[in-house]
Amino acid sequence: MSKVKTYAAIQADKPLIPHDINRRDINPDDINIEILYCGVCHSDIHMARNEWNNTSIYPMVPGHEIIGQVKEVGSNVSKFKVGDNVGVGVYVDACEKCDNCNSGKDHYCEEGIVLTYNSYEYGTKNITYGGYSKSIVVKENYVIKIPAGMDMAKAAPLLCAGITTYSPLKHFKINSNHKVGIAGLGGLGHMGLKFASSFGADVVVFSTSDSKKDEAFEMGANHFVNVNNSKDVRKHMNSCDYILDTVSANRDMAQVFSFLKTDGLIMIVGLPMEPLAISSFSLIDKRKGIVGSAIGSIAETQEMIDYCNEKNIYPEVEMIPMSKINEAFDRTINKDVRYRFVVDMSTL
Ligand code: NAP
Ligand code: ZN
Ligand code: ZN
Repeated sequence: MSKVKTYAAIQADKPLIPHDINRRDINPDDINIEILYCGVCHSDIHMARNEWNNTSIYPMVPGHEIIGQVKEVGSNVSKFKVGDNVGVGVYVDACEKCDNCNSGKDHYCEEGIVLTYNSYEYGTKNITYGGYSKSIVVKENYVIKIPAGMDMAKAAPLLCAGITTYSPLKHFKINSNHKVGIAGLGGLGHMGLKFASSFGADVVVFSTSDSKKDEAFEMGANHFVNVNNSKDVRKHMNSCDYILDTVSANRDMAQVFSFLKTDGLIMIVGLPMEPLAISSFSLIDKRKGIVGSAIGSIAETQEMIDYCNEKNIYPEVEMIPMSKINEAFDRTINKDVRYRFVVDMSTL
């Protein structure tokens, strides 16, 4: 075991503080990664603050948008060597036996994935600790290759915000025949916008104010709707084939449905703490639907990283030192982030 510096939540209503943890020694199929950068996902806030049905385990080391460098490999590791640039996303293990694991849907493992943090490892039942730390030990099957030449500092948010928006857009084969709405222009939303635009869709952003309008157009939006402006809203009613809903809070879902055209579908990725209130009337009128989507498989995450590398698609990031993490949480909640905080782990 080795002692590793982290920032951790000790309880739900207290700020994160410096905290040492123990990482396991590497097993034959493990990689030890020195963490260079870690993105700040809104899920980190939900979990650190115990906003999801009392599922939080303390002390908790959040962080699942990890970029780093391999510093040690186990004796059976074949895909990585010391010095390689790598990424780790939202999960670090799955059963590798169930139908989903055997059909490229390991993120939907029937036994349950082991999350990068706030989970119990298979076998040992040790608690997993995430990326707000100096290093992490992960099985090689759950490590993503970061191609040489990729901008490491900007790549971190791809490991969650990137794959979570890429996966449903790919699943529904979004292309130039589609008008796609992006609800919420935060960390996930701005990546959804960039991907939908790169797939050729006509993209409309649904945001709660006009403050992100110019940037939305710069990132590829074709239209922008301030959902609190009734003139904007009327213009785009009954028009979208799909809406990727990334909003982290509960709100009037009837309005979101009103933007869909006949047979349109809402793809939910946002995870507000309360259940969404959806009226049957929103569904029966024009045969509209709603579907959820969680992250993406390891293979799909690799595909997404390679796609971003090829097309030069990156998140917009604001780099912060580790000591600013509590401020970053508050600013994210206040929609004051353009568009993802990334922690420079050399500051820890
Ligand atoms: P974020 O950066 O905070 O973005 C959320 C955006 O939602 C905000 O920027 C804001 O956009 C909008 N919003 C916030 N409060 C709102 C309200 N009361 N009414 C309407 N709009 C509101 O968060 P994120 O990191 O992108 O994460 C978004 C959600 O996805 C979180 O709930 C997170 O837990 C979840 N998530 C899910 C998965 C998955 O696998 N499904 C993976 C990662 C994250 P505007 O400023 O444009 O209005
Ligand atoms: Zn996340
Ligand atoms: Zn499985």
